[in-house]
Amino acid sequence: MNLSQIPVDALPGVGEQRKQDLAELGIHTIADLLAHYPYRYEDYRLSDLSQAEHDDRVTVRGQVFGQPSVRWFNKKKSRMTVKLDVDGVMVNVIWFNQAYLKDKIRAGQTLVVSGKWDRHRLSINADRTFVSQVEQEKHLGRLEPVYSVTSSIKMHWLRKLIYEAFTQYGREIEEILPQELRERYKLIPRAQAMYYLHFPKGKKEGMQARRRMVYEELLLYELKLMWLKKITRTETEGIAHRFSDDEVEAFIAKLAFPLTGAQRRVVEEILSDMKAPHQMNRLLQGDVGSGKTVVAAIALYANYLSGHQGALMVPTEILADQHASSISKLLAPFGVNVVPLTGSMTAKERREALGQIQMGLANVVVGTHALIQEAVVYRDLGLVIMDEQHRFGVKQRATLRQKGGAPDVLHMTATPIPRTLAITVFGEMDVSTIDEMPAGRQPIDTYWVKKDLWPRIVNFIAKECQSGRQAYVICPLIEESEKLDLENAQEVFEQLATQLAPIRVGLLHGRMAPAEKEEVMRCYAENEVQVLVSTTVVEVGVNVPNATVMVIYDADRFGLAQLHQLRGRVGRGGGASTCVLVADPKSEMGVERMRIMTETTDGFEISRRDLALRGPGDFLGVKQSGLPDFKLADLNEDVRVLEVARTDAAWLVNQPDFTTRPEWRPLVEYLRENQLETLKLD
Ligand code: ADP
Ligand code: MG
Repeated sequence: MNLSQIPVDALPGVGEQRKQDLAELGIHTIADLLAHYPYRYEDYRLSDLSQAEHDDRVTVRGQVFGQPSVRWFNKKKSRMTVKLDVDGVMVNVIWFNQAYLKDKIRAGQTLVVSGKWDRHRLSINADRTFVSQVEQEKHLGRLEPVYSVTSSIKMHWLRKLIYEAFTQYGREIEEILPQELRERYKLIPRAQAMYYLHFPKGKKEGMQARRRMVYEELLLYELKLMWLKKITRTETEGIAHRFSDDEVEAFIAKLAFPLTGAQRRVVEEILSDMKAPHQMNRLLQGDVGSGKTVVAAIALYANYLSGHQGALMVPTEILADQHASSISKLLAPFGVNVVPLTGSMTAKERREALGQIQMGLANVVVGTHALIQEAVVYRDLGLVIMDEQHRFGVKQRATLRQKGGAPDVLHMTATPIPRTLAITVFGEMDVSTIDEMPAGRQPIDTYWVKKDLWPRIVNFIAKECQSGRQAYVICPLIEESEKLDLENAQEVFEQLATQLAPIRVGLLHGRMAPAEKEEVMRCYAENEVQVLVSTTVVEVGVNVPNATVMVIYDADRFGLAQLHQLRGRVGRGGGASTCVLVADPKSEMGVERMRIMTETTDGFEISRRDLALRGPGDFLGVKQSGLPDFKLADLNEDVRVLEVARTDAAWLVNQPDFTTRPEWRPLVEYLRENQLETLKLD
């Protein structure tokens, strides 16, 4: 029996209306219902008051001593108290606004109450009261599940329904974990674990159940990624690019600089993927300024030589313009027609660009990710490069790969993610890493100063600009409010424009029209403007080598990755650069971030320390990373399990008979049904 095929209304008491109510919770089938785990438990096990801490939740049983007394504050608000003899200790039980209980409570009667313990007053602020013996027997000694519900679904109804589901279908829950893994980690059977997650008899069972299901959840996730990777490698037909290595070498030889060893290595990895008949799906990670753009250009050139079109996708319009011009500078001398496609184009320009793309006259297209989402028709797309797009989820990445013609895909990111996590988040990709900076890079001296030194910072900016350099001044987004953000950058801009005159100051923020932004950036790039006051729109990828000063105002409001990105905007030319963090941090974390920034400029090191500071869940940020919302697993607590699950998943997937071995059939079928529905498997 397949529980994910049985609709919830197979259960008694679930009609059309209930079915809809449950659907609101994402529960459609019996399998969904059984996996609707509680997020906490109500603890009705008897407490030992002598051990209980002040403010603990406790449950006690005792004999009522005397009559309850009620005080009314107004028509609705009341306070009722009674003395309860709990194993010889007189405890005061207090109920707020539950005066209806008064008539049910008699002297000498046994009562069970649950609530918050006040150790000093020997009193319990009761919120659950079990009066009858039947009730007491039903709840006492239990951990009761608390579920997320909606306004139309009552907790006790859902509890009963889930209990009923287990009674009717519990036996049908099939084990899916291979026996050797279950034995190795001493994991309890699946059906039992699922049951105990809802109705544990005690903490120990609850823990065992959680341990088993967390492992299962993470194993399934890793299996999905690795299987996907294997399928892409072996089964998905891709383009086997054909180009002459000599011509690529000739291009590399004409660059203004020799490639670093690391660049060479990743270029080889990428080119060999491109030549292979499978679809490339590779992540290129390299610190800010490590030279990813030129690697992208080489790949695009090889793709062009092979007779295909290429697309370079970047996160912002500013970057689109900038990359279009820098890539064009590199490739145009070799006959490659690079075409930008951005929102700032006029309708006519856009139509022309689209026409060129469709006819195949555009060899390389550079734009935001609208390039792939919109109705842009390529004649023959052979390579897609996504710059700084690590925030794409697994599913979106899969969609991208399924874009017609199965183009090779290269993702580039400057936010180095520690290895374990990289594999977790990008588990279905191959990873190339540039771990070496181009020679001759000037170090960036980083200082952290308090806000009261602002006037001296202004003097410093003035001095640098007078000697021909340029500066960025970054203002943060305050509380996500666009308006405040604007005011803040605006204020700083106005102040600096007055104080620094005749040095010219420009302003850049997210609410400007694309054409305005472009104009400001152009002025800055051409040194018509010496100081650029900006919100974080310059965060990624902007390249103005003459800029040597990066001032970040309220720096403690930024995360480490972002600070590192911002700092990476300077130190790109020959000159020694300076980064000044202006901040009065209010938290320990804030102080620690400032300290880390002043201690190292190595992105991988920063990333490691950031991870240690925040824990993986926070570090990745579920929304940003495209990490799935795990039902049970918590990446902050369960990283070790994740690592183990990954190793096991790799082992499983790499068995030649993974999909055919009879013992593994339930697992493979489960994966096919539940995890890989968005991906073509046949
Ligand atoms: P990122 O990896 O942050 O995208 P870029 O590709 O923008 O870095 O490169 C930063 C700067 O370093 C650019 O000005 C680029 O021309 C230069 N660069 C790249 N590779 C080398 C190299 N091997 N030697 C010297 N300079 C290089
Ligand atoms: Mg870049």
